[in-house]
Amino acid sequence: MNAKTHNAISTTVMPAGAIREILLGARRILVASHIDPDGDALGTQLAFASYVRHLGKEPLLVRDSEVPHKYRFLHGAESIPRTESLPDDTTIDAAVILECPNIERIGTACRWLKDGLPIVNIDHHRDNAAFGRINWVDSSMSSVGEMVYEYFRADGYRPTADVAEQLYTAILTDTGRFRYSSTSPRTMAVAGELIAAGADPHKICNMVYYNVRPSTMKLIGAVLNTLEFHDHGRICLLTLTKQMLREAGAEESESDGLVDYTLFSEGVLAGALLKELDVARTKVSLRSANGINVSGIAAQFGGGGHYNAAGCTLPLPLERARAEIVRLLTEAGNG
Ligand code: AMP
Ligand code: MN
Repeated sequence: MNAKTHNAISTTVMPAGAIREILLGARRILVASHIDPDGDALGTQLAFASYVRHLGKEPLLVRDSEVPHKYRFLHGAESIPRTESLPDDTTIDAAVILECPNIERIGTACRWLKDGLPIVNIDHHRDNAAFGRINWVDSSMSSVGEMVYEYFRADGYRPTADVAEQLYTAILTDTGRFRYSSTSPRTMAVAGELIAAGADPHKICNMVYYNVRPSTMKLIGAVLNTLEFHDHGRICLLTLTKQMLREAGAEESESDGLVDYTLFSEGVLAGALLKELDVARTKVSLRSANGINVSGIAAQFGGGGHYNAAGCTLPLPLERARAEIVRLLTEAGNG
């Protein structure tokens, strides 16, 4: 986009006034997040749409992917239209892009972004490409959910119980249930304020983590059976084939979170889940416990993410992707 010709702002300090100004100058506002959405992506997308409506504007919510089963309880999640169901000449006056390190991550809604369109980019990925007119990117933040909450507060918008639930879900999932080091005192305070605003922590945790389908449990069993260790136990791999999905009767989105098992055992520095996409492509989710920057590895294949959690797609069949990932992680772990 032509961000630079419009005095683009790139800042870690919330530019609340500038964000509000763009939104107030628009009528229909695209509110988008990334394909294969996680809790932070969906929660903030839905919450921001409510805020846009509160401003008297029309939010346009879209998705390219299925909403994962575990997030379908979020108010509005089931009614987000598919991007492909909307016309090519859909017009928007502004766009709010949440949780996307680069604009391509929103998927096919990219086709509506005309040159000069004001884009508000709110993210916490270190490698964010600053593609907006406003780029509020703060990699010290636990989640975009926490950022959006702070923005709502600054703007005087009081979340409804539904919005509080959406933002709590965003923060809960992106902190690995308040486990990652990005969980700050403020993160916990925000979570507390969201509970006070109507988010039910017991219900949300149960819906996200303890309401899995039998097919998901079968898939977990099959994937854990593929466990391998490399480099003297410092690297742990899991594999997911299309056949496992078929046999479990599971959708792709049900594999979300499986990669976390690679860091469950002692001595592991880094883990990867290899997902067979087709005969020529393998999707890789990477996790690091300490000392290996997996976003650097993902970036070599056009992916990205965070220091400790990243993803990419290798243009290789499963077995060759496995060898490549073992080689790169071993090198990184010994380098
Ligand atoms: P995942 O392993 O899919 O849970 O992703 C972990 C982190 O990496 C998340 O922050 C994602 O947003 C990011 N990520 C995953 N895949 C990609 C990709 N292809 N390009 C950029 N970032 C990605
Ligand atoms: Mn996030």
